[in-house]
Amino acid sequence: MIAEIIAIGSELTSGQKLDTNSQWLSLQLADLGIPVHFHTTVADDLDANIAVLQAATQRADLVLLTGGLGPTLDDLTRQALAGMAGVDLVLDKASLSFIENFFAGRGRDMPERNRIQAMFPAGSEPLPNPVGTAPGIWMEVPGGVSGKVCRVAAFPGVPSEMHRMFTEQVRPRLPGGARIIRRARINCFGVGESRAEGLLGDLTARGRDPEIGITAHEATITMRIIAHGSTEQECREKISTADRAVRERLGHYVFGVEDEELEHVLIRALRDRRETLSTAESGSGGRIAHCLTGVDDFEDAYLGGLVVPTDRAREAMLGPLPANVAEEVSEPMAHWMATACRERFGTDYALAVTQYPFMEDGQSMRDAPSAFLALATQSETIVRPISLAGNPAILRSRVAKSAMDLLRL
Ligand code: ATP
Ligand code: MG
Repeated sequence: MIAEIIAIGSELTSGQKLDTNSQWLSLQLADLGIPVHFHTTVADDLDANIAVLQAATQRADLVLLTGGLGPTLDDLTRQALAGMAGVDLVLDKASLSFIENFFAGRGRDMPERNRIQAMFPAGSEPLPNPVGTAPGIWMEVPGGVSGKVCRVAAFPGVPSEMHRMFTEQVRPRLPGGARIIRRARINCFGVGESRAEGLLGDLTARGRDPEIGITAHEATITMRIIAHGSTEQECREKISTADRAVRERLGHYVFGVEDEELEHVLIRALRDRRETLSTAESGSGGRIAHCLTGVDDFEDAYLGGLVVPTDRAREAMLGPLPANVAEEVSEPMAHWMATACRERFGTDYALAVTQYPFMEDGQSMRDAPSAFLALATQSETIVRPISLAGNPAILRSRVAKSAMDLLRL
């Protein structure tokens, strides 16, 4: 089975709006193992729509369309489907009363132009829209790669309406669509994508169930587990087996699941232990503070941070520079910043980072390609150099996360 996705709308072809519907639908079909060979984007023009539909229904077995089901004159999907199939539009009474009730529920009469939304190509089936006024359309027409049949589903353009209608009404009609899919994510830090892949070995082999894929975002490496099954229980068991296997191989690199970032895990651990943290940052613009203050209820654990990119700021906030601290980006500087910060705030821990700031282009560093991170505890202060080689776009995150990662040691 080969699929084609058609996004309809002049707002898309004119570049005003990005077509995210095709992306979403393709990911859904990929989950079902249905390959998508074509993405077509077409303006709100009847002839163009009919031409695109005629081509699609010949070269694909499944055609999913979004957009053009609204009540306005530029919404032409109904007419285009009827034109492609060579049939008339006929009124569906059930859809008409659904739309009338939709307006009545909002204390309004149905505008006359909404009546068109209850018109369907003869021989098609309405797909009820539980969220909006525009019902979708399901049709089977001669065509497809084998020349027998092509299945067509049309959805409204509004992404949330389309998502629900696809999931609830169209997916179950597709091969494999009655199967359940469950996903889980495991997040790691401190390991690169390719090294993670090496450690996971055969677990990431193509065609396995559950599937395990690796993605990277802002220096966090995520293992995405996708399990297929006929019951919830079956999927859950597959996911927990995969979860155990991933943790066995990646060990300490694993810090969290789903949307969790290092800062969430760090704040939670500190709160659980009733411990506190402060930070001092030179050159990173308060990136660590930014991450930590983005976590709900951080205040019990993270007491505050200093942005001290100059000697003057450091001396004003942390006290006189000791004689052994000369270089701005150096091990003694990081050591002193963390130690002095911890004393100033009276916290259990303090994290410090010192690096040369990024250039205005945000893509390069001024000067030395390394930073120093430090963690001060009650008994000692440890310092780690960190190389700033790599993709500059993710370096800011990598520095902040590497600093927070020191607390997981
Ligand atoms: P409705 O009657 O619910 O408005 P419709 O089928 O007429 O549905 P459109 O008018 O084409 O849909 O689009 C409605 C909204 O959905 C607009 O905000 C539009 O930008 C957005 N939209 C349409 N197509 C896409 C797409 N392919 N990707 C992302 N957003 C889209
Ligand atoms: Mg439109």
